[in-house]
Amino acid sequence: MRNKEMLLIPGPTPVVDSIYDAMASETWSHTDPRFVKIYKHTIDQTREIFNTDGEVFVVAGSGTIGMEMAIVNTIAEGEKLLVVSQGYFGDRFIKLGQAFGIQVDVLQSEWGQQVSPEEIDKKLSEGHYKAVTVTHADTSTGVRIDLEAVVPVIKKHGALVIVDGVCATTAMDEDMSKEYGGAGNTVDIVLTGSQKAIGVPPGIALVAFNQKALDARAAMERVQAYYCDIYNWIPVMHDPSKYFATPAVNLVYALEEGLRIVMEEGLDTRIRRHKAFGRAVRQSLAVYGMKAIASEEVAAPTLSCILYPEGVDDGKFRAAMAEKGTVLSGSLAHLAGKAFRIGHMGNTTADMLEKAVMQIGETLNEMGHQVDISKAQNVFAKEVNQLTV
Ligand SMILES: *Cc1c(COP(=O)(O)O)cnc(C)c1O
Repeated sequence: MRNKEMLLIPGPTPVVDSIYDAMASETWSHTDPRFVKIYKHTIDQTREIFNTDGEVFVVAGSGTIGMEMAIVNTIAEGEKLLVVSQGYFGDRFIKLGQAFGIQVDVLQSEWGQQVSPEEIDKKLSEGHYKAVTVTHADTSTGVRIDLEAVVPVIKKHGALVIVDGVCATTAMDEDMSKEYGGAGNTVDIVLTGSQKAIGVPPGIALVAFNQKALDARAAMERVQAYYCDIYNWIPVMHDPSKYFATPAVNLVYALEEGLRIVMEEGLDTRIRRHKAFGRAVRQSLAVYGMKAIASEEVAAPTLSCILYPEGVDDGKFRAAMAEKGTVLSGSLAHLAGKAFRIGHMGNTTADMLEKAVMQIGETLNEMGHQVDISKAQNVFAKEVNQLTV
């Protein structure tokens, strides 16, 4: 790999050479038939990863643009949104909704825990909510939400299910045709960014709307958006030779290759691999006395938020790791300084993660915390080997 460092933060994630190569191709006109063909292909690939017959949108912007597209096209000013939040990125929907005059209510879990389906059920019984946002994997806490458990509850109350898949898409099941415990109990919108589990550099948002979500847009006379109004994009998605706003040409090349890699691995295999990687990282770090804030029952497969043992300085630890060539992330809000975050998603390999686990052990040893690196390595290997049997 061309990368000089292992970028093991919760996104952007390591970029493989074939994606860099795609990006480095000559910039064609966005209306050149050769480019139009590639753009159209990424739209088809996006439809395939979400398995939807609704509309998909591949637009320049980060994941947050996807969040905004989901909200402004479905919930009108004055209508109610329930935000189910398991951390910092869940909370982002609060400000987002409020920015558009939407009435936002929130269910927040303690960091490291899940909001229960019972709490969601109770809250939805108290009033009419147009939509509920759930964060598939919250990047601040490494906690996932189980769509099997929450989608039926939300659907019982008739609200739209909006899934933030920014740290999940292609690493967790987001099949939009899947019915969860009953006919019609499907996810309505999934949104994501290019730079996390998909493994492409940042800059593209991918968003999918099913028919119910499109119906919600159709029922709105106007939306408080221009770039994010899906009605400006639908003609382009149907015929990418049409112009609304210039697509990120070179990133579209990269996305085509990134999604080709995803489909070549296969979604099921990729989902299983992420589960195994998540467990392997957490179990091997536990050998060092380092605990994830999320228990294994609720932990996300894509990243982990790991508490430091007593007396380990966050700044010094991560600087020493960076010196060894591995970039880790600090933690947010009240966990800042107390925990670090490690991404194990996208095109990250088992070799990279095993190396990181060893380097973490070496760093702890250098800092005066004696830990057993070979034991951690064995635990790592055992978890990952289960993948191949
Ligand atoms: C990273 C992230 C976002 C924000 O995405 P940007 O690309 O930074 O705008 C939103 N939600 C989740 C779950 C994320 O991990």
